[in-house]
Amino acid sequence: MSASDLTRLTAAELAEKIHSREVSAVEAAQTHLDRIAAVDGTVHAFLHVGAESALASAERVDAALAAGTKPASPLAGVPLALKDVFTTSDMPTTCGSKILEGWRPPYDATLTERLRAAGITILGKTNMDEFAMGSSTEHSAYGVTRNPWDTSRVPGGSGGGSAAALAAYEAPLAIGTDTGGSIRQPAAFTGTVGVKPTYGGVSRYGLVACASSLDQGGPCARTVLDAALLHEVIGGHDPRDSTSIDQPVPDVVAAARQGANGDLSGLKVGVVRELGGEGYQPGVRAAYEASLRSLEKLGAELVEVSCPHFEYGMAAYYLILPSEVSSNLARFDAMRYGLRAAEGKSAEEVMANTREQGFGPEVKRRIMLGTYALSSGYYDAYYGQAQKVRTLISRDFAAAFSQVDVLVSPTTPTTPFPIGEKVDDPLAMYLNDLATIPTNLAGVAGMSVPSGLSDGLPTGLQVMAPALGEAVMYRVGAAFEAARDADEGGPLIARVPEVTA
Ligand code: GLN
Repeated sequence: MSASDLTRLTAAELAEKIHSREVSAVEAAQTHLDRIAAVDGTVHAFLHVGAESALASAERVDAALAAGTKPASPLAGVPLALKDVFTTSDMPTTCGSKILEGWRPPYDATLTERLRAAGITILGKTNMDEFAMGSSTEHSAYGVTRNPWDTSRVPGGSGGGSAAALAAYEAPLAIGTDTGGSIRQPAAFTGTVGVKPTYGGVSRYGLVACASSLDQGGPCARTVLDAALLHEVIGGHDPRDSTSIDQPVPDVVAAARQGANGDLSGLKVGVVRELGGEGYQPGVRAAYEASLRSLEKLGAELVEVSCPHFEYGMAAYYLILPSEVSSNLARFDAMRYGLRAAEGKSAEEVMANTREQGFGPEVKRRIMLGTYALSSGYYDAYYGQAQKVRTLISRDFAAAFSQVDVLVSPTTPTTPFPIGEKVDDPLAMYLNDLATIPTNLAGVAGMSVPSGLSDGLPTGLQVMAPALGEAVMYRVGAAFEAARDADEGGPLIARVPEVTA
């Protein structure tokens, strides 16, 4: 099989070939490492490539298969790109920040452990906005990632590296984290699939915290089924994360397979009145309209529902997130991890100088906003009020899910924008997450599925489901994907232009 054919397989297809020993795991790893070497100079999806450990891991999978052992998981031997926010004992973990440059964690995150135990080949660590704050990956301290659909445009963020790696065929699987949209928005911008699981569904142990009450790791892939397969590997209870849900992972693989049969009759799909209208690009709205027609053709009943408090989601998020950030990032004190400034007459001065040199402007902005929001005299007016809005948004979801099985909206208000366009305009940047933030605030599940092109650039349909309602979400996502693929004569991602150096 040629190298380009091999990188174009879905994870499920590649796994099958590896497990039947038609292709070795080492060959799969090496082909993707070669692809990274060929295109990542342009895309810059990776901050670190761990060729040696990737090949060693693949060799272990091949040896086990040769010995007749059953594959460690349905994805054993499949390569993956890991967002540089999960700790890895054999690779650096920088979170896209200078303050962690060169830091090697002493332990693996639970998610990393689970990937390894499943026999998945970790190719390397992907670029991201510093500490996961941003929507374009331009806030990385290590340079921008380019969108394979148009390399003058951003891939979204904060997990732009993971999404771009998928779209550039550098890896068939990736991991992201989603605090306000960082898995779903890059998925929409790159024509890939991204899932934010229910809060507590995937362990946060070893995930460097951005905003702990919102952060959630999740799967990124080129198909809904691949995302489901990865979801089952990484999900499930972890006693080391106190917010981890002590319940089985929803049966998302079966749901994705069921959905692919293409029948949604009997399901009610809620169309959120407050999302997808004013403020959304005309091309995004047109793609959304077409998506709604596809869902109808699949037999789903569309019901308009109102979530009146969603419009306050952004305001609440930009108080709650910075508040948590200001507290979480206090641990970067020049003593324990990474960078330590040379200058300073006292420990306090060294600390201040290190933080001044080590953090980028967006991180500093949020630390200041959060410190202010939590300060005495302002706490109730800002942080306290935002928490009340959060409760109202959760109630909007509860009311909506009492009427419908899932909710839908466009994933993002726009298609991918040119590099540089919004980087100096924080408010314009924040608006990217208008439609994705409510699910994080409420802790419910959400996913983005490719929904066609607008002026040659990808758009995404967001499907949202109640907490632990991932099965129905994947079912709808897979049915929608199958319908679009049939209408368009193949998956959207197959139309991504070849990246040139
Ligand atoms: N873009 C949002 C932010 O900047 C979301 C980030 C995320 O989900 N990590 O906060």
